[in-house]
Amino acid sequence: MRPLGVHVSISGGIHRALERAEDLDCTAAQIFSHNPRGWAVKPLNRDQVAEFRVLRDRFGIHTVVHASYLINLAASSPVLREKSVVLMKTELDRADQLGVGHVILHPGRSSEANKELALSRAADSLNMLARLGPWQAKILLENTGGAKGDISSRMTDLGDLMGRVSSELIGGICLDTCHAHTAGYDLGRKDQFERLVSEVERNIGFSRVRIIHLNDSKGRAGSGLDRHQHIGEGTIGAVALGRLVNHSAFRQIPLILETPQETEEDDRRNLRRVRELLN
Ligand SMILES: [Zn+2]
Ligand SMILES: [Zn+2]
Repeated sequence: MRPLGVHVSISGGIHRALERAEDLDCTAAQIFSHNPRGWAVKPLNRDQVAEFRVLRDRFGIHTVVHASYLINLAASSPVLREKSVVLMKTELDRADQLGVGHVILHPGRSSEANKELALSRAADSLNMLARLGPWQAKILLENTGGAKGDISSRMTDLGDLMGRVSSELIGGICLDTCHAHTAGYDLGRKDQFERLVSEVERNIGFSRVRIIHLNDSKGRAGSGLDRHQHIGEGTIGAVALGRLVNHSAFRQIPLILETPQETEEDDRRNLRRVRELLN
């Protein structure tokens, strides 16, 4: 069975995330391992880590960590870049403590026009990070939504980065459907979807796509506007999302939803819709 789940809160303790996932009948889950909006990170509670490992094995939930949004390995400020490397080290340390295999990372962004320079800074930061390892956990680079200053919205960008960074550190990519769509791969169009598939094949390799973030989009294709929407209610739509999840290249890959969570019912409804899409 293909793992399917949502992003779950760790409020009340990291083990609580798995109880929430189990309540939703999830077989996959994504967590932040700490408050993703703060630089200060408290050590994990040992009892909660032990409970987390027990529950994950009991429930059989394929779990991934999403790294903090503050991390910017391509930042032009050396101070911010160094803080980012240190926090990313913490993310990987914590993933190893939890026994989680993958940490999903947005590779970085830069306010300058020179994307090449920003990409090489991200590569340098990742190689610096690699020297602080090793870890059992691997990083998955996530494609980003194509906003101004974005350096990782094209499959060529991700492939380029993977080629420049110690292979010990990188486990592959996480493909976000909303981000791909707003970055210019119009998933509603069959030819554009096929372009995405062939770019993934050429630049990444299908076997290195380890997670799909399955999100519909509020922003239009190519808008660069990263706003996730409920499955089937956005500019991608259920038909196009169904085409992607059932494509032979992607049909084994675990699915994680990062759809809006305004009411308790939202996750259940979105999960139900995805189950209906799966062939
Ligand atoms: Zn992300
Ligand atoms: Zn995502």
